[in-house]
Formats: sequence, C-alpha cells, structure tokens
Amino acid sequence: MRDVVVIGGGLSGLAAGYELEKRGIAYTIIEVKRRFGGGIRSTTARGFVMDAGAFAFRLPAAKVLPPEFELDQRILLISGDACVFRHSTETLVGAFADRLQGGRLMRMAVSSIGRLGNRFTICLENGIMLDAGALILAVPARYAARMLWNLAPEAAERLAAFRYDSIRRVSLGYRKRDLPARLDSDRDSTIRFIITTDEPGRVPDRDHLLMQVGLRASSNATAKETIDAVTQRFGWRAAPLVARVDFWPEADLLPNHDGSHRKDLSAIRDLLPAGVSLIGSDYCNEAPTDRGVARLDERILSGKQAARDALEYLKAAKK
Ligand SMILES: Cc1cc2nc3c(=O)[nH]c(=O)nc-3n(C[C@H](O)[C@H](O)[C@H](O)COP(=O)(O)OP(=O)(O)OC[C@H]3O[C@@H](n4cnc5c(N)ncnc54)[C@H](O)[C@@H]3O)c2cc1C
Repeated sequence: MRDVVVIGGGLSGLAAGYELEKRGIAYTIIEVKRRFGGGIRSTTARGFVMDAGAFAFRLPAAKVLPPEFELDQRILLISGDACVFRHSTETLVGAFADRLQGGRLMRMAVSSIGRLGNRFTICLENGIMLDAGALILAVPARYAARMLWNLAPEAAERLAAFRYDSIRRVSLGYRKRDLPARLDSDRDSTIRFIITTDEPGRVPDRDHLLMQVGLRASSNATAKETIDAVTQRFGWRAAPLVARVDFWPEADLLPNHDGSHRKDLSAIRDLLPAGVSLIGSDYCNEAPTDRGVARLDERILSGKQAARDALEYLKAAKK
C-alpha cells in the first residue's frame, strides 16, 4: 500500500521523494509535465548553456546538497558567494531524479483531493484515482488551490488569492570582443539582476560571455522588443550570438515584500488537515533577494522536512 503521494516534481517534490526513498517509505510522485524540474529548466544553443529559471544560488546552499550526490566539482563560484552549476541547474534535478526508485506518474495532473476514512484520495484529470496515508503538495499556490477546493475550501480560497510579480529572464550570449571593454551593470527599477559568466561549461570558450538578466516586466513586449530594450539599455550594439527570453508570470509573491505572507501561510497551514504538507517557493517565509540568487537550499530542506512530517503523521495514525 502506498504511504505517501508527492504532487509536483519540481525541486521541492524531488527532495521530498528522495528523503522518502532513503527511509524506505512507499511513495509515488505525480508530475504533470513529461520532465521533472518544474521552474528549473535549461537549454543549450551554440555552446551557451542558459537557465530559464533558477540559475544562481548562494554558496551556503551547496552545504545542504546531499554529499552522496558528489556535486562539489560541478559548482562554480561566479561572484561574491553566488554560484551556478557548471553545466546548468538541471544537474541538480538529475541528481535527485536519478535516485528515485519509487513510483512516478508523469504527464498526469492531479485535479482534486478528498478523504475516504483515514486515507486521502487523489483524483487525476484522466480519471485515475489513487489513495495515500499522507500527502505532500509541492506545487505553486494556484494549483494547490484547485486541488484543495473540496478538502480544505478555506485554505484553497486563501491560496487562490496569492498575487505575483512577473519576471522576464533574458539570456544573451556574446563574443567578448563585440562588447564594450567595461560592462555597465548598473541596475534600475526594471532590472532585477544581471549575472554574467565566461566559465567553460556555460559558454563555448573564454572568448565568450553569457549574460542572464532579470527584468521586472508586466508589459506585453514581445521577445524581440525585450531583447532590444535590454541591449539598448546597456549599449551593447552588436547582435548577440544567442538570445532567449523566458517569461515567468508568477515569479515572486507580492506579499512577500511586506511580510504579511508569513501570517497568511501560518493561517493556511492551520486550515489544512493533518497529514497534508504544502511546500515550494510559494510558501517560503523569506522575501526574495534582489540579486537573482534565490533559495534552492530552502526548497531542498522543506522537501526533506515534509517527508519527515509525513512519516511522523503515519506513525501516529497507526497507534
Ligand atoms: C525566473 C526565475 C528565476 C529564478 N531564479 C532562481 C535562482 O537564480 N536561484 C534560485 O535558487 N531560485 C531561482 N528561482 C526559484 C526557483 O526556480 C524555485 O525556487 C524552484 O525551482 C521551485 O521549485 P518547486 O519545486 O517549489 O516548484 P516548481 O518548480 O514550480 O515545481 C512544481 C511542479 O509541480 C508540477 N505541477 C503543477 N501542477 C500540477 C498538478 N496539478 N499535478 C501534478 N503536478 C503538477 C509542475 O509541473 C512543476 O514541475 C527562480 C524562479 C524563477 C521563476
């Protein structure tokens, strides 16, 4: 019998699954897409490795990576205490995913969650129904809201009310000789961060540079308009060798900036039935940083903790 169902195969869900795996618990991860990773997604073009979402993280975050993954050699310090994975952040997703031997249901979306006796029921959009003793919801708030509508309507209502700041991630690859000798990296109100690297593994060779720029962008600008705006803003006249824009309409929670999110989160958690955990970037107490480095460590630790909580709950329920 399945003990735990983890819904969502982003970093948080994968970390929860890995902890369950290590503890020998019967679990299944359900992921709506054909790939794990959620907001962590990378592409390669002409030797440039570009992360659409999570790119940089702080060095202390590396300390929470399971030592058995042996990722130390695959991490690069790029500026201050900001690091990146040498060959894209998907390295981290792969390290977790490769170690999950438990059940996984890919390309299947959870539509609702209910209760039957002391078990949770999980309905998938294709009509399949599963059950579990405990649940870990590792999905953004608007999906969690839909799933919880029957089981915890008040929590669902609060989750559906989350509001976000959007971000455009612009990735540009250049030959160094095509750029001004001194790069202007001043930010203004529209530029959230700019991170550059010429590390081999990220660029074709040391004669090239990759820029990842985070723009606050609620406008409907096309990808081309966005790229033009960035290159003009910095005075980079040459055409980039590669250019890519990823739009994240729900990147940062707005209430995070004024601290009210913490209160809201604790109210939501109180409204959830015992045995249900809610984890992921939407439920983080900390405000986002403005340097483009976010909290991959927080995602991993909360996944681990949710797995432990599920175990405690299952033990107590058996007594
Ligand atoms: C533009 C951008 C840049 C970022 N940059 C950084 C960075 O530089 N450093 C950093 O540390 N962090 C960064 N982050 C944050 C980082 O991406 C997230 O913290 C992390 O990837 C979130 O992982 P998660 O597992 O909590 O959620 P997600 O990655 O959102 O995963 C949720 C998963 O649930 C799945 N799902 C959704 N609905 C269902 C359903 N109904 N049924 C089944 N599955 C479902 C989704 O497909 C997804 O795979 C960035 C985020 C964005 C948007």
